[in-house]
Amino acid sequence: MRIFNTLTRSKEEFIPINEKIVNMYVCGPTVYDLFHIGNARTFIFFDTVRRYLEYRGYEVNYIQNFTDIDDKIINKSLEENKTITYIGEHYINEYYVDADNLNIKRATVNPKATENIDEMINLISELIDNNFAYVIDGEVYFSVRSFKRYGDLFGQDIDTLKSGSRIQVNDKKRDALDFILWKKSKEGEPGYNSPWGYGRPGWHTECCSMIYKYFDKSTIDIHGGGFDLIFPHHENEIAQIECLSNKKLANYWMHCSFLNINDEKMSKSLGNFLTARDMLSKYSSSVIRYSILSVHYRTTLSFSEEQIKASEKSLYRINNTYKSLLKLKGNDNLGICSDVVIVKDYKNKFIDKMDDDFNTADAISIIFEFIRYVNKNIDSLTRSEVEEGISLIEDFYSVFGIRYLELMEKECELPDYVVNLVKERYNLKKNKEYHKADSIRSELETKGFVLEDIKGGTRVLDINTKKIISTIEDIL
Ligand code: AMP
Ligand code: ZN
Repeated sequence: MRIFNTLTRSKEEFIPINEKIVNMYVCGPTVYDLFHIGNARTFIFFDTVRRYLEYRGYEVNYIQNFTDIDDKIINKSLEENKTITYIGEHYINEYYVDADNLNIKRATVNPKATENIDEMINLISELIDNNFAYVIDGEVYFSVRSFKRYGDLFGQDIDTLKSGSRIQVNDKKRDALDFILWKKSKEGEPGYNSPWGYGRPGWHTECCSMIYKYFDKSTIDIHGGGFDLIFPHHENEIAQIECLSNKKLANYWMHCSFLNINDEKMSKSLGNFLTARDMLSKYSSSVIRYSILSVHYRTTLSFSEEQIKASEKSLYRINNTYKSLLKLKGNDNLGICSDVVIVKDYKNKFIDKMDDDFNTADAISIIFEFIRYVNKNIDSLTRSEVEEGISLIEDFYSVFGIRYLELMEKECELPDYVVNLVKERYNLKKNKEYHKADSIRSELETKGFVLEDIKGGTRVLDINTKKIISTIEDIL
């Protein structure tokens, strides 16, 4: 198995420290709002990495933190006149609701920043004692110049990085690149007592002190997060730990590219975001996951309704083949003698693609190659081929976190009379017979179907869940 390591900018053979165990840490959400589908891309991708590692026989210790103290959370608590504990707890619960609905497996541990303040204070003290950090007026900064390898992850040396940063007027730090480890709390702001006064830890200290704690000061196998975390967040994590221990913080650094909308990174601060919850009200988790994973994780994903609808169609094509194979399995007349070499070959190819730096996009192409094979040979498949084929699609579903039952449920075909009424209404509207068209709409609503007009067709939604049941296009 090979993984692209951001640190070396190359694909490397994956060799975990303990033969059968993978220790991994992924930076989690700052809990002051619902997460958006950009965040979801990163969470779903790393969940798939974990699922695949488990599929390949590893036991995975997966730690993902909750940043529950930070300026944004404090601002939200002031806006809403609630404590930061309330805001944090509330959005952690909301995170679990959406992540569970997205079929993201729960982490082995989800440590919270506020529960690890002592560990952070200890780490900062150690850094000061060893002259890697300094105190100024109740605040502590890390001295970047004290760590020779600063900039390695991002791939730039200190001087180049420095030319891009400036000391702000109110900064107390000595060097433009130095970063804050302990921040003084302003009057009325929440905080904790520390040897340097009342304040709170900086975000960069959070993840590395949790890694220190939960992995017992050992090097971990994989550290992950979105592209935006390479610099300075992960660079700063490396600096804090590696200056002290002379051991690597992580062996493989993996970063997931952005999900963009209208050529811009989706982000809370830009206000161009769609929450995962919004998406889940329109599409099933399986379609969302498939759509995200259909693009290689190191390629930008341009999000659009067209892209997700195309994914929906593709996934249903796969599922139709799966259903045909299940039906065939119940057929007593299938040939028995045959070699399953061809089908096995597809499974090997699927594994090869996933082994190659989790290339989910190419793995999907293999599934489609297999589907074409099945369609071509549907009348002559043998029992072993059918069984191997079912197992291939089931492996694909489980690694990608696709819920087979959800697909079946959603795929319940619309009764013919509904389809006919939808078509009739479409034509009535075209002929401007709006009154009659409206009465069909009302009639269908009493049966639990909501109609939504789209270009060239009609979408039928479930009245209770508001999920799309079917899209009827090209109505003549
Ligand atoms: P945050 O809650 O902003 O700290 O982000 C949580 C995780 O989502 C981090 O790993 C980010 O790198 C990642 N992330 C944020 N925005 C995007 C985006 N538009 N596309 C992909 N990942 C993102
Ligand atoms: Zn982090």
